[in-house]
Amino acid sequence: MKTALNIFWFRRDLRLIDNTGLFHALQSGLSVLPLFIFDRNILDTLENRRDARVEFIHQSLMTLQDQLALSQSSLEVYFGTPLLIFSSLSDKYRIVKVFANEDYEPYAKERDEEVEIFLKQKSIEFQTFRDQVIFSKKDVLKQDGLPYTVFTPYSNKWKSLLNLNRGECLKYFPIEKYLGNFFKQPAQPVPDLAFMGFSFSGKNFPSSIPDPVLIKNYGAKRDFPGLDATSHLGIHLRFGTISIRQLAAKAIQLSPEFLNELVWRDFYHMILWYFPKVGKGHAFKSQYEKIPWRNNEKEFTRWCEGNTGYPLVDAGMRQLNETGFMHNRLRMVTASFLSKHLLIDWRWGEAYFAEKLLDFDLAANNGGWQWAAGCGCDAAPYFRVFNPALQQKKFDPTGIFIERWLPGYQQMSSPEPIVEHVFARNRVIAVYKKALAEER
Ligand code: FAD
Repeated sequence: MKTALNIFWFRRDLRLIDNTGLFHALQSGLSVLPLFIFDRNILDTLENRRDARVEFIHQSLMTLQDQLALSQSSLEVYFGTPLLIFSSLSDKYRIVKVFANEDYEPYAKERDEEVEIFLKQKSIEFQTFRDQVIFSKKDVLKQDGLPYTVFTPYSNKWKSLLNLNRGECLKYFPIEKYLGNFFKQPAQPVPDLAFMGFSFSGKNFPSSIPDPVLIKNYGAKRDFPGLDATSHLGIHLRFGTISIRQLAAKAIQLSPEFLNELVWRDFYHMILWYFPKVGKGHAFKSQYEKIPWRNNEKEFTRWCEGNTGYPLVDAGMRQLNETGFMHNRLRMVTASFLSKHLLIDWRWGEAYFAEKLLDFDLAANNGGWQWAAGCGCDAAPYFRVFNPALQQKKFDPTGIFIERWLPGYQQMSSPEPIVEHVFARNRVIAVYKKALAEER
C-alpha cells in the first residue's frame, strides 16, 4: 500500500525558517515530504558548467538536509523535469496535496500551470502561497484595479498598505512548532554537481546574516561602491535562503532607504507578472523595439572584459567577472554605457549579467536593463545619458573602487576610450529621437 502524504516543493525558498508554503503544508494534517527538483528545463540551458548558482543551490540543499535530519526526515532531491518527477512520485506515494510558494517568472508560471493540470488528473491538489515578496501581483493595484507602471505611486500605496496592516504583512510563520510533521525517512541521496554535469565554481558566497550597522548606514553610504556598504543579500533573496519578511522588518526599524529597495524588488516582480513579455525579450515600451542598434561585436567584447578605457565602467565589469557581484551604481553606469554610448542592444547586456550575477533575478535584472536603456516602465528618459567621468567624480571621488579593480590604473597607459563621451551622447540621442519619431 502506498503511503499517503502531502508534498512541499522547494523552489526559490530554500529555508525552513519562516517559510509560508511549508508552514501551511506542515499544518495540513498529513506528514509532509520535502522535495526539490534540479529542473533540467533550466539547467540544460546553462552553458557555464561551473555556474556558481547551481553550486549555491546545492550547498543550500545540503544545509536543509542537515536540518531535516534533526527531525528524522530528509529531502528527496531529483534531477529531471518536474512533470516526469511528479509522475514517478505519484507512483511511489499516495500524494494528497502539493504545497509550494508562488513564483512569478514566465517559465515558472507555465511550469506551475502544467504541473497543476497534471496533478489534477491524479486528483492531487496544488496550492501556492505568497512568500518571496511582501506584496504580490494583486495586492498593490491602482483604484481602477489595474497594475501600477510608475514606481513612486506604487511605492506610496505599498507603504500605506504596510502601515495599515504591518502585523499581517510581516507575519512570522513558526515552522519550528511543527517539525514533527515531516515525513520520516533516513537521509536520501542528493545528486552531486558532477552527476548533473557541473563542477565547483571557486566563487565565495556572501553571508546570509543581515548586518544591522550596515543597514542603518545604508542611506548615507550605499551609493559609493568603494565603501562596499550594501548588504550583498541579493543571492539569498533570490533563492529564499533568508525571509523577505524578516528582512523588511529590520529595514523598517533601521533604514527607510533600504526598505525602498525592497519595494523596487516587489515592483519589478509585479511588472514581470502582469507584463510577461518583458521577460521574453520585449521592451516594455514597444516603440523602443525600433531602435537601430549598432551591435558591434568587438565593442561588446571590450565592454564584457572591462576594456572600454572608461575606468569606472571597466572596474565595474571586472568586479562582475571576478566575483559575480556588481555594485548597483555600477550596474546603472555599465548598462547605460552599453545601451547608450555603444548603442548595443540592451538584451545583449541583460544576457551577460544573467550569466554572471550570483544574484541574477529575471525581474530585477530586466527591470534594471530596461530602465537604463530607457525602454522600461518608469525608465530614465532616453536623453539622460550617464557621463561615466562625472559618475566617477561623484561616486568614487578618491578612486578607491577603481584602484581595487584596475590596480595602478593611473600610472598605466589605459586603453584609449572606446568612444568619446560627447560624440556618443549626441549620437544616441539623435538615433533614439529619430526611431521614436518614426514610430509615431
Ligand atoms: P542592497 O543594495 O543591499 O539592497 C538589498 C536588496 O534589495 C537587494 O539584494 C535586492 O534584492 C533589492 N534591491 C536593491 N536594489 C534593487 C533594485 N534597483 N531593483 C530591485 N531590487 C533591488 N538585482 C537583483 O537582485 N538581481 C539582478 O539580476 C539585478 N540586476 C540588475 C541589473 C541592472 C542593469 C541594474 C541597474 C540593477 C540590477 N539589480 C538586480 C538591482 C540592484 O542593483 C541589486 O539588487 C543590488 O545591487 C544587489 O546588491 P545588494 O544585495 O548588496 O543590494
